[in-house]
Amino acid sequence: MEEKVLGAYADGSEIRYIAKCFDITEEEVTAILHNYREKSKFKRSFTDDFKKLVAERDLKFSRRQIAQELGINVATVKKSCEQFGNAVKDKAVSDNLYTLVKGVDNLDVCPTCKSHKINEIESMADNLNTKGIYCMDCGDEHFTLNETEEYKDDNDEIQVRVIGTLVYKVNFEYLEE
Ligand SMILES: [Zn+2]
Repeated sequence: MEEKVLGAYADGSEIRYIAKCFDITEEEVTAILHNYREKSKFKRSFTDDFKKLVAERDLKFSRRQIAQELGINVATVKKSCEQFGNAVKDKAVSDNLYTLVKGVDNLDVCPTCKSHKINEIESMADNLNTKGIYCMDCGDEHFTLNETEEYKDDNDEIQVRVIGTLVYKVNFEYLEE
């Protein structure tokens, strides 16, 4: 079943339609997709096969929708498409993917609207998996990265240490077509 669902998903069928085709519920389709995502974690990113699936889906659906379906960050979708998709959708994408949110160091509530109705999602920035949230009230997406600084250890070698948490907002306007 997983293989069939993934095939239909890559081909660009609506989740509703996939469920109907294979006589399962939409929730079951989503569960299969999320299970596949979990299996596809590789090092601090995802496997090439997973990224190819995302890139194929990208030909017919918005990146935001794909991100929501798979429970991943739009930045992950973008990275996958850059790596495996055609470049069509990337033309309009600026480097301004994320904005640092000042004065916030956690994602307990949505930094934009302070809502508690947030979903934790897999996020990826600069090819690093990070913790992210999606806000069900305003639709904004944020993720955290460690703030680091370099210092010299006792042997005079440069080391990196974590000194805090930085919160970034994903700029959808740069990601969508
Ligand atoms: Zn919000």
